[in-house]
Amino acid sequence: MADFDDLLAANRSFAETFDLAGFDGIARAGVAMVTCMDSRIDPLGMIGLSPGDAKILRNPGGRVTDQALVAIVLGVNLLQVDRVMIIEHTRCAMASASEDELKARLGRAAGTDASWMSLGAVDDQHATIRADVQRVRSHPLVRPDVAVGGFLYDVDSGLLSPVE
Ligand SMILES: [Zn+2]
Repeated sequence: MADFDDLLAANRSFAETFDLAGFDGIARAGVAMVTCMDSRIDPLGMIGLSPGDAKILRNPGGRVTDQALVAIVLGVNLLQVDRVMIIEHTRCAMASASEDELKARLGRAAGTDASWMSLGAVDDQHATIRADVQRVRSHPLVRPDVAVGGFLYDVDSGLLSPVE
């Protein structure tokens, strides 16, 4: 396990000042966020929240996948979520190339065929944000009073722009 030594050492330091014990797992700020895995994104920091405040769901592109939708449904019904943010971002790798181009790039990097794997390239970010917002709003297990918003995050300015 030497590959993880530095991270486990950091974890021991983290645990020395650990102050999140006793949390009950609800989203204290009532927020769930779906966003991209991109390392330029600080999901809590960019909306002024702290650990314990929100449910954060991340994947390539920041899409409302089937599993993200399950998490949102659980969040709004069991974990006091009443605001759902769906956030894609500028200069996203998933939106910078077509599905075929992404598969070709992946295949070259992996040194083996990747054409069989569905990656979920985003063709039009505004359109997918609107579709994902609609997917959440129209779900039978998401109450009408739950606010669902779609946004584009600018990784160069740090600003969120409302889309839907
Ligand atoms: Zn991205």
